[in-house]
Amino acid sequence: MAHDIAVIPGDGIGREVVSEAFPLVRDVAEARGTTLAPTEFDWGSERYLEEGEMMPEDGLDRLEAYDSILLGAVGHPDVPDHVTLHGLRLPITKGFDQHVCRRPSYLFEGVDSPLRGYDAGEIDFVVYRQNTEGEYAHVGGREHEGSDNEVAVQSAVFTREATERLVRPAFEAAAAREGKLTNVTKSNAQAYGMVFWDDVVEEVSADYPGVEVERLLVDAASMDFVRRPEEFDVIAASNLFGDVLTDLGAIISGSIGLAPSANVDPTGTYPSMFEPVHGSAFDITGDGVANPLATVLSCSMMLRNLGEEDVADALREGVAAQLADESAPRTPDIGGEGTTEEVVSDLRTRLLG
Ligand code: ATP
Repeated sequence: MAHDIAVIPGDGIGREVVSEAFPLVRDVAEARGTTLAPTEFDWGSERYLEEGEMMPEDGLDRLEAYDSILLGAVGHPDVPDHVTLHGLRLPITKGFDQHVCRRPSYLFEGVDSPLRGYDAGEIDFVVYRQNTEGEYAHVGGREHEGSDNEVAVQSAVFTREATERLVRPAFEAAAAREGKLTNVTKSNAQAYGMVFWDDVVEEVSADYPGVEVERLLVDAASMDFVRRPEEFDVIAASNLFGDVLTDLGAIISGSIGLAPSANVDPTGTYPSMFEPVHGSAFDITGDGVANPLATVLSCSMMLRNLGEEDVADALREGVAAQLADESAPRTPDIGGEGTTEEVVSDLRTRLLG
């Protein structure tokens, strides 16, 4: 099969990991009879600094025809973070109804967790994060700016439709995995949105009698990600809580440089977008040491979503084999001295000979 892929390398290390990882992914796919036809879009903060916008006004129209989108990262020291987020990533996730964000955390063999005593595979869960509304709904305002009476209001918006469309796939995933769903909210403090969310979870749970439901407040969940990560299977969380918990999930499974993510429209009406969890990381940009494996694993999720299971499996198995091999190059975030290029080149040899 052939698939058209929109590639947006973005900013900082996003450009470095995508320029190394994607050509490898394309070649691995080609060797298995799958053609990935990329079109690169030079959108991001450099464009914003020159032209005042991260992507063109008709950006979504230009992306819509693609089968998938690969995003590196966005963020720049000279551009406020809310500008980069609202200028590119959020318009795409909202515009293309990518209401499910899937972020797996998995401890691979050969990778050290900062939590001691965990063997490979013992940390293995996936966060289902609501991706289009909640605390990131962009509803609010500021009044009396600069005065002593200044007030800023930021509303979180939870609709039945969007909440259910996150919760149901999370239950489906739990039913197909270990049969456990942890529902993370803050319903003791946020009595409207979060209690409503709990109600939706309870309603949907009636359709999944085989799935055990655990309820946790986000503060307790943060503690338990560190105290007993092995007990989690599927976690359902709002946009903000999912965002925060998945950085924690990334670090306990070794590094944010290993954490992939998928922003999915499960109906397939629009293209889904795949990206590493990490940001543009300007502290290491230009050093050539960014870990490219989160991007390779994100591409594996992309290929699985496109129905190319064997390419997806090959990429994931290649990463697992490399991490398990003590003599293989690895980047400094996981204790090595290797470069982005060396890691990808080693993977190339493993996967393509
Ligand atoms: P954001 O864009 O979310 O504000 P950021 O660009 O500041 O984030 P993060 O992605 O949150 O950075 O990562 C935090 C730190 O982790 C980075 O500053 C960097 O040192 C390290 N890091 C992130 N990604 C990688 C990677 N792929 N390889 C190695 N180290 C990484």
